[in-house]
Amino acid sequence: MTGSPAVLVTGAASGIGRAIADRLAEDGLDVLAVDLRPDPDGPGVQYEADLTTREGNRAAVETALERFGRLDAIVANAGLQHVAPVAEFPEDRWDAMLALLLTSPFLLARYGWHALAEAPSGRFVAIASAHALVASPFKAAYVSAKHGVLGLVKTLALEGAADGICASAVCPGFVRTPLVEAQIADQARAHGLPEERVLEDVILAPHAIKRLIEPAEVANVVAFLLGPGGEAFSGAPVTLDLGWTAR
Ligand code: NAD
Repeated sequence: MTGSPAVLVTGAASGIGRAIADRLAEDGLDVLAVDLRPDPDGPGVQYEADLTTREGNRAAVETALERFGRLDAIVANAGLQHVAPVAEFPEDRWDAMLALLLTSPFLLARYGWHALAEAPSGRFVAIASAHALVASPFKAAYVSAKHGVLGLVKTLALEGAADGICASAVCPGFVRTPLVEAQIADQARAHGLPEERVLEDVILAPHAIKRLIEPAEVANVVAFLLGPGGEAFSGAPVTLDLGWTAR
């Protein structure tokens, strides 16, 4: 197999995905940075796709293979959040969130599987969440999809073992990204709190250590999982949550 190892990172224009794409490009991997709104100044090859569609996921995998001639790893990271009580939860948001957070990782694995099997050490990493392990109120779609993606990763790990493919789910607590900043107004409404109380009373409440995680800390875990040390973590949630799920 010729050339550098190649990785497809979704949601690569912002937050955690951007930090992962930056880190893996620095580490010398060829990166296909996929996003609904790509950043022309971002690392690697920028590619626009709507990952709530089958065509978007298929085209992303095909583009990685066309550009790099190989695909060693998929990092399924793209995500969105919606905070609302279940009786008011917009059904269209449920559909869109399940499509992006659960169906897109499945489709990326499905379309990229043979290429991962041909790679010297194929890797599938989903950026799940502490919400893959525990729930919070007013996040029905997010918690359901994140629990689902952990199930997908476990299945991929079992199926992939014979082909040398490892699959892991990274489970961070709250990370300093636009996704967290964007939910402050909805959290305030759902919890009946002023917006300035949300960070301390809602977001940092479950963290034993009262700070946000930095995107680069998550990227560091992904870089490790893509390396030889990642193999033993196949099938596992890899949790970095400042003590959240220790309770
Ligand atoms: P973010 O909002 O900063 O970035 C998400 C990216 O996904 C954006 O660039 C956006 O354009 C892209 N995206 C959205 N819809 C898309 C679509 N249909 N097709 C393609 N791209 C699309 O979010 P983030 O906080 O960096 O979150 C990244 C991942 O990490 C998500 O899966 C999220 O659930 C997970 N996560 C985040 C936190 C956190 O606290 N921020 C904690 C745990 C897990």
